[in-house]
Amino acid sequence: MFLTITTTGTHDRPATDLGFLLHKHPDKAQVFRTAQGNAHVFYPEAGTERCTAALLLDVDPVALVRRGRGKGRGGAPDAALAQYVNDRPYAASSLLAVALGGVFSSALKGRCPARPELPEQPRELRVEIPVLPARGGAALVHRLFAPLGWRTVVAEPVALDAAFPEWGDSRYVRLVLEGELRLADALNHLYVLLPVLDDAKHYWVAPDEVDKLLRAGDGWLADHPEHPLITARFLSRRWGLTRQAMERLELVRLAEADGTVVEELDNAVDETHDTEDRPVPLAAQRRTALLAALRAAGAQRVLDLGCGQGQLVQELLKDPAFTEIVGVDVSVRALTAAARRLRLDRMGERQSSRVTLRQGSLTYTDKGLTGYDAAVLSEVIEHLDLPRLPALEYAVFGAARPRTVLVTTPNVEYNVRWESLPAGHARHGDHRFEWTREEFRSWARSVAERYGYGVAFEAVGTDDPEVGPPTQMAVFSLTAPTDHPATGTTGTTGTPGAPETTANTPATTPKEERAV
Ligand code: SAH
Repeated sequence: MFLTITTTGTHDRPATDLGFLLHKHPDKAQVFRTAQGNAHVFYPEAGTERCTAALLLDVDPVALVRRGRGKGRGGAPDAALAQYVNDRPYAASSLLAVALGGVFSSALKGRCPARPELPEQPRELRVEIPVLPARGGAALVHRLFAPLGWRTVVAEPVALDAAFPEWGDSRYVRLVLEGELRLADALNHLYVLLPVLDDAKHYWVAPDEVDKLLRAGDGWLADHPEHPLITARFLSRRWGLTRQAMERLELVRLAEADGTVVEELDNAVDETHDTEDRPVPLAAQRRTALLAALRAAGAQRVLDLGCGQGQLVQELLKDPAFTEIVGVDVSVRALTAAARRLRLDRMGERQSSRVTLRQGSLTYTDKGLTGYDAAVLSEVIEHLDLPRLPALEYAVFGAARPRTVLVTTPNVEYNVRWESLPAGHARHGDHRFEWTREEFRSWARSVAERYGYGVAFEAVGTDDPEVGPPTQMAVFSLTAPTDHPATGTTGTTGTPGAPETTANTPATTPKEERAV
């Protein structure tokens, strides 16, 4: 199994940057032991103008069969010959995709600590795979790769036997892709689409495969015209998993339609300003204030809505008083970062039973979010387009209806205190609005009144006598019984102003509601 990646370059942007991007030195030939066999990485050419990296996977067919048998799959002892004599060692398949994922894992994630600017830059790439099994033929290869920005997609059928042309073509093609892309995108395309084309995964597809697909498909799969086929085949046609993945892709599309940038949003500006201005970063002060408010409310089961990369979830986990913590975010990338931060995969059972991360969009009601003590919306509302805010209000205050809701958002008045922030600029590129204290308070009071909550306000960060604190927080406490007219939780049909909603249906709002 063989794959080459070639890039071209100039004196200013040498092709050998490929070595940095792949984290593999162009002067070295390296061998990596993988579960599939030995993976060799070497560079047949490495110059300023052209550089080619090759990945050769030397599959051990005997080990493959033995492992298969050990797992009780595909290992019927009497089908002996077919197991040892097959295309697996030669054809690019899920084996190559898995090796690619292992050997180039940082490159797939777009990480390059030595040269952090490189992964973001598209560059001229040429990928060649001499033997690619393609169930669906060259036509499918085109349908899969062409929508992804590849300028040239060549899928040349490989003859069954060059000496006997009359035997016709095999089910293999020689694949050549050319285009100007970011390397991480190119690798993620291959990671997903090679096994899709082969359509015969060598391993049992477990539920975590849905996460792998969504992670690798971030930014391209949701809108790919062939996403149903890609999803079904990648998940080996396990329909339960396929349905799950399709629903999550639908969420991504809905959020995009809402105008949400499904990106890793990290409050970058806040954090930089903070370190300049004060010893304790504002984000940390915010978490302290949120924790204090949650403790004061006696909350045990907590939702962190728009949890981002999971910093608050991590803090909550440290206090056993919080018995159940659910982080919700629409961004797969943020959730992946959160899972990594929390080391979910290495967490003991006791801890992991306290925490759940789930993908969801907050402008849609979700039955799974009802019955919690408290919900936190920390620096989230300002990421929504104003016209979508009432939908979030309904989903949180009307449908999920926790006893306590904490909402933090920047106080725009404070922006003048940040010297490095140009006048009139929001703190974060994705903020759709930033409110004055008065704007925030009148919004919060109107929400509280409509949904039967009381509301109090707290300052987070130094409360400047003139412009107020950098972050403002509203603490909502449920006062009305659950059959408050605006909530529609009574179960009676036709409640005035109560939109009928089920999980993931748009939470439309009563007519009289307006965003501030
Ligand atoms: N709460 C975190 C992250 C704030 S950044 C903190 O305080 O640091 C805003 C987060 O809200 C992002 O992770 C973004 O993906 C998420 N978000 C934005 N719109 C959303 C929506 N409609 N549904 C769910 N999450 C959303």
